[in-house]
Amino acid sequence: MIYEGTLADGGEFRGVKTLRRRAGNNWWTDLTTLDVDLTRPGKPALRGRMTLGVQDLVKQAQTVHGTMASDATLFGLATRFLFRVGDHNLKWLVQQKDFINPAIRYAIARFGVQNGGTGEAALTAIGAMQGAEYFGRLIFEVYGGLPAYLYNFPARNAPEDPMPPLAGMKSETVTHITPAGAPISLTRFQGGPKGPVIVANGFGFRGMGFAMNTYPAGQDQSLVGMLANAGYDVWIFDHRASPGNDTPGTQPAVNYTIDDVAAIDWPWAVEAVRQATGAQDVQLMVHCLGALTAMMALMGGHMGHVRNMIVSQFSVHPVTSWFNQMKADTHFAQLLHGDAESRMAATLAAMTGNPVIERLARSRDLFDLRTRVPPTGPMPQQAQLDSAIDALVYAVPFPTGEPCNSPTCHRVFGVFGPVYNHDQLNAATHDALNHVVGPVATWPFVQLSRIMQQGKAVSAAGKDIYFDTPKRLDFPIHFISGEMNQLVLPSTTLRTQKWLQAVLPESAAKFTRRVYRGYGHMDCLVGRNAARDVIPDLIGWLRAQG
Ligand SMILES: [Zn+2]
Repeated sequence: MIYEGTLADGGEFRGVKTLRRRAGNNWWTDLTTLDVDLTRPGKPALRGRMTLGVQDLVKQAQTVHGTMASDATLFGLATRFLFRVGDHNLKWLVQQKDFINPAIRYAIARFGVQNGGTGEAALTAIGAMQGAEYFGRLIFEVYGGLPAYLYNFPARNAPEDPMPPLAGMKSETVTHITPAGAPISLTRFQGGPKGPVIVANGFGFRGMGFAMNTYPAGQDQSLVGMLANAGYDVWIFDHRASPGNDTPGTQPAVNYTIDDVAAIDWPWAVEAVRQATGAQDVQLMVHCLGALTAMMALMGGHMGHVRNMIVSQFSVHPVTSWFNQMKADTHFAQLLHGDAESRMAATLAAMTGNPVIERLARSRDLFDLRTRVPPTGPMPQQAQLDSAIDALVYAVPFPTGEPCNSPTCHRVFGVFGPVYNHDQLNAATHDALNHVVGPVATWPFVQLSRIMQQGKAVSAAGKDIYFDTPKRLDFPIHFISGEMNQLVLPSTTLRTQKWLQAVLPESAAKFTRRVYRGYGHMDCLVGRNAARDVIPDLIGWLRAQG
C-alpha cells in the first residue's frame, strides 16, 4: 500500500507499507504503524514513523463516506463467527456467503475489547468506510488465520495457465499405456540438436512444472525454457507418479510400486526418445522421485543407453528425519499409511458435524494435492470434504519462519514434508503450484516409507536388490542438493557419490556434486533466482559432457 500526500507548506509525504505475515508480528501494529518520508521545499528531508491508535482509526473512519451500509448486527455477527470457529464448526463457516467481513470485524472488535472497549465503535466505523471491503480483504488475506487460509487466496490469485507450451517451439506429446493400464507420457520441446535430454519431476508434480512462465522473463527462465533455448532437444517425462497424465478420459495409476516406475516406465521413456530421435543414448536431468526411479531403473538393469545424468536432491541413499516427525505431529500422514483411516474419517465427521464426510474419507486410493476455491452458498459434499481436509492440515508443521496461507502448500508439506523453501519462490510461482500438483496414489507410499526408513533404495518387499552391479552406473553423474533441504538432507547425494567412488574407484572423478547455499528442495530448479544461481551450472555441465 502506498500513502502519498501534499502538505500545507508544499512539502510531500510518502509512506510505503508491505503487509506480510511473519513470525513475531501483529496485524494491528502492522496496520497502524507507517514509516514515512517527508520532503519540504528548502528544508532537509525527514524520515520517521507515524502510529495510529484505535480512537484515531475511529475518527479517520468517520471522515470517510461511502455506500456500504453500516450494519447494526455486526457485533452479533462477529460474536457468532467467534463462537463457530471456537466450536470448529467449519461447515457453518465455509457456507457463509461472505465470511471475510465478519472475520475482520471480529478481529477489530476483539482488539477493541482488549484495549478499553472502543472496539465496537471502531467496528461500526469501519463498516461505514468506503473501500472497507477491499481494505478488509487485504488485512484478512495476510492476517486472517484459519478462515483466510480456507478462503484459499493463492488459488484465487493463480494465473489460469501458468504452464503454456513454449512459445515458438515445436512440441509434441507421446503417450503410452503400460500393460497394467497406467498412462505415461513424454512431451517434447525441440530446442535444437543437443541432448536429447529427458527431464523428470518428483512424486505428485507435473513435469511441466519445470516450464512455468511465472518468472519476470517467463519461460525463458524456467529449466525447460533455458534448456530448449540452449539448443537442447528436451523431453519432459511424466512417469505414472506424475499428475501430468491426469487427462480427461484416462484413469490415473493407483495400485503400483516404485519398482514399477523403475522397471516399466523408465525403459519405455528412454526407448521412445531413442526411436524418435535416432540418438544412440540420452542425457537425464532428474529430480526427487524421478531421480530415485531413474537410478533404480539403471541399477536394476532395466535400462541402459544413458550417457550421463544430473541427479537432483534424491538419490538411492535418502537421509531424512522429516517423515518420522511428520507422522508424530499430524494425523494426516496416517491417512496415507492405511490402518488409521477409520479414526481419521471419524475425526473429520466430528469436526464438521457431517456424516457424509466420514463416508468420503474412508479408503482413499488417491489423495489430491490440488485445492479448490470454496464455493459460496450451499457446498456440495466434495467441497465439504475438501475444506475439512484443508482445515485438518492447517496444523502441518512448516520449517520455522515459513508462514504460508496456501492450503496447497499445507497439503504438499503434509504428504511429503518441506518440498520447497518459501523464501526462494516468487509469489507467482507459489500461487501457480496448485496447477503443478495433482492426485497422488497412496499405495506407493508403503515402499517409499520403507526406502526412507532403511536409508537406501529397496524393493517393495523391502529387499536389497538394487546395489549388486554398480558398474551399470559407470558414467558421469552430477549430484545437486540444496543446503537447506530438510525433506531429503544434502547428505543424501553425498552418500551416493561416496558409495559410487568407493565401488568404482577408477571412475571416481566421474561422480561430481554441488550443494547450493540457501536453497531447499524443489526451489533449486523453480526458485526465483534458479535461472541465475543453478540452471546455468546444470546446462554447463550437460554441455561439458557432450
Ligand atoms: Zn506456501
